[in-house]
Amino acid sequence: MFYLGIDIGGTNIKIALISKDYEIIKWKKFPTPNNLLEVIIDEIQEFVNENPIGTIGVGVAGIVSKEGTVIESPNIPSLNKVPLASILQDKFSIETVVENDATVATIGEANFGEGRGFHRFILLTLGTGIGGGFYYNGRILDIPMEVGHMTINYQGKLCSCGNLGCLEVYASGRAIKESLIEKIENGESSQASSLYEGSIYKITPEDIYNLALDGDNLARQILKEAGKCLGAAMASLINIFAPERIILTGGLSKAKNIYLETAIIEAKKRSLEGLSSGISIVQSNLIDVGSLLGAVFLVRNK
Ligand SMILES: [Zn+2]
Repeated sequence: MFYLGIDIGGTNIKIALISKDYEIIKWKKFPTPNNLLEVIIDEIQEFVNENPIGTIGVGVAGIVSKEGTVIESPNIPSLNKVPLASILQDKFSIETVVENDATVATIGEANFGEGRGFHRFILLTLGTGIGGGFYYNGRILDIPMEVGHMTINYQGKLCSCGNLGCLEVYASGRAIKESLIEKIENGESSQASSLYEGSIYKITPEDIYNLALDGDNLARQILKEAGKCLGAAMASLINIFAPERIILTGGLSKAKNIYLETAIIEAKKRSLEGLSSGISIVQSNLIDVGSLLGAVFLVRNK
């Protein structure tokens, strides 16, 4: 018997075939399409045709009800109000659980990753948007921890949620991309202008990170600024929740130099010394698969 773990993000979808011992047998990743539901059903069908599947665990970037309905997903609006768990369960007659993506990633870290052995840790998912999960005294706190919508500049830029100055408009993958495009349009120079035959809207946060590593000044400056904003938000999380550890995951957390490094320095500098001195802030060792393992762990231990 095998299990399917699925992670639906604003930029990419990942699906993994997982063994009963939580070994990843195979996995695939593809860009989040417009006809998302249709594509996910087709992809699951392919796995179901080839393997006996016991249960399906799904993580979605958004707020999810106990019944597995996506209540609100600012980065994947086509899933708003979609009863995803019951649609998949009806279609495949396989027990399916749908949860918030950061929650399942936290379950993954607690059981298989950098969270093992810790009583109190916070996980931040850094991708198109920013999410969070909180592990406290042996269990995941059952709250939608929308860290990305923490206000870090009360008179700041408008966020997709309607608030001004959310963390997500300064430190997410989308923010980094938009910031670069805006600066290039305002005449600042970057090697990014020559990528994709000058079609700068196609640039990804990963491209920007690679340019920064190559020494592109504008890319470096943008990642540094985003890292400072993330660090300021982490300082608030440290001061409020006193975690033993903060684990950083999601596609953007691969940008270890410049972005993560700046964020970690800033977080330690800004938080209360009594709380920050013993804390470790680390990059996940399960960046691509933590949420998939966590989603399967959740559904199997339900
Ligand atoms: Zn917001």
